[in-house]
Amino acid sequence: MQSANRSRHDVVVVGGRVAGSATAMLLARLGHDVVVVDQASLPSDTVSTHSIARSGVVQLLRWGLLDEVLDSGAPAIRQVTFNADGASISRTIKQKAGVDLVVAPRRYLLDTILAGAAARAGAQVRTGVTVTGVQRDGRGRVVGVSGQDRAGARVEIGARWVVGADGLGSRVAGLVGAALNQARPAGGAAQYAYYAGIPWSGIEFFVGARSFAGVFPTHHGQACIWVCTPSADAKAVRRSTGSRVEAFDQLLERSAPPLAERIRRARRTSPVQGMLRQPNQLRQGFGPGWALVGDAGYYRDAITAYGISDAFRDAELLAVAVDQALRGDAEETTALAAYQQQRDQALREIFEITCRLAAYPPVPAFIELQKQLSAAIDKQAAALAARPVPGERLLATA
Ligand SMILES: Cc1cc2nc3c(=O)[nH]c(=O)nc-3n(C[C@H](O)[C@H](O)[C@H](O)COP(=O)(O)OP(=O)(O)OC[C@H]3O[C@@H](n4cnc5c(N)ncnc54)[C@H](O)[C@@H]3O)c2cc1C
Repeated sequence: MQSANRSRHDVVVVGGRVAGSATAMLLARLGHDVVVVDQASLPSDTVSTHSIARSGVVQLLRWGLLDEVLDSGAPAIRQVTFNADGASISRTIKQKAGVDLVVAPRRYLLDTILAGAAARAGAQVRTGVTVTGVQRDGRGRVVGVSGQDRAGARVEIGARWVVGADGLGSRVAGLVGAALNQARPAGGAAQYAYYAGIPWSGIEFFVGARSFAGVFPTHHGQACIWVCTPSADAKAVRRSTGSRVEAFDQLLERSAPPLAERIRRARRTSPVQGMLRQPNQLRQGFGPGWALVGDAGYYRDAITAYGISDAFRDAELLAVAVDQALRGDAEETTALAAYQQQRDQALREIFEITCRLAAYPPVPAFIELQKQLSAAIDKQAAALAARPVPGERLLATA
């Protein structure tokens, strides 16, 4: 079965950003016939700041993509400055798990690099395709997706596995009826804008009462300036000000006065964007013929800036599991149950820290949690660096 709008593959991945393109790339490198569809076009942006933690950088390195990300102009970040209680401590990023830098590439570039890597590995990348339904066989197993392209033509894609990498509001999760296995309070707001015209020496963090703000240096000499607060605080400030920009300025002034002072000399190059009431939730990771990865399966407050790193880790866990199922190396329920179990175990510690940070405890407790976060990230980076790289042999000969 193969026509312009009807095809059949080993795997169809819905959503082509950090989770979806990474999963598609790895499965294609493992020799499978993969198609990834996204309703968006690439390059395009999405609402997200984009600092990648050491563990995420380890994944880019292992997958052979770190140089491409750095070559895109994302500066290698080697210094982190932590400001709290009037004190400022700068540290050079140590060499651990094979990396001595972090990076904060703009999403329109990072996501395009990943989709390009998926295509180079042999995956078919189809943008402008919106999935609206799943196909099921007589026993209820998911065996494909349906939807439409931008011209309104119907698209039907059959597959042995359907992967939902379609973000927080995952349509695939809704269509397959994925259960919400954990839901914690959803209280945090994260807002950001880009600034140019002044130098940035690395990542900066500012801890304040009920706030966390900072700087992620990115392409073209610009920096993403962000502020996280309880949503109630963000809403209250917005109500008392005339615009989103004014509200952002006021929140920053309250959270990080030295940073607010510095960016008065900079030029804002974007609108203020962000999200209120970010959920903290974990969905069932798989069922007959389907699996979820990235934000579709697990969402956490942006206060730990860890979603991209989570997506990279889980893309690999899922690709390995689906590969085993497709090859018959493991019974499929066993393979996919191992994916869900490994995902849930790997995310647990940082999820706990995220939920506690997103409750904005007093500053000393907040700082202690940040130390725990840093140790947990290093532990995860070391664990990832020790894993065999899926499809490495194919990568080496590509
Ligand atoms: C304000 C904010 C700041 C953040 N800051 C950071 C940070 O600094 N560092 C970090 O690591 N993480 C950060 N995150 C989290 C990070 O953005 C996410 O974890 C990450 O984007 C998840 O990637 P994903 O591929 O799972 O989903 P997404 O990036 O949401 O991509 C999903 C894709 O699916 C497509 N799609 C959706 N529905 C359909 C459909 N029906 N048919 C076809 N395609 C569909 C969409 O078009 C989209 O391209 C932040 C998030 C927010 C909201």
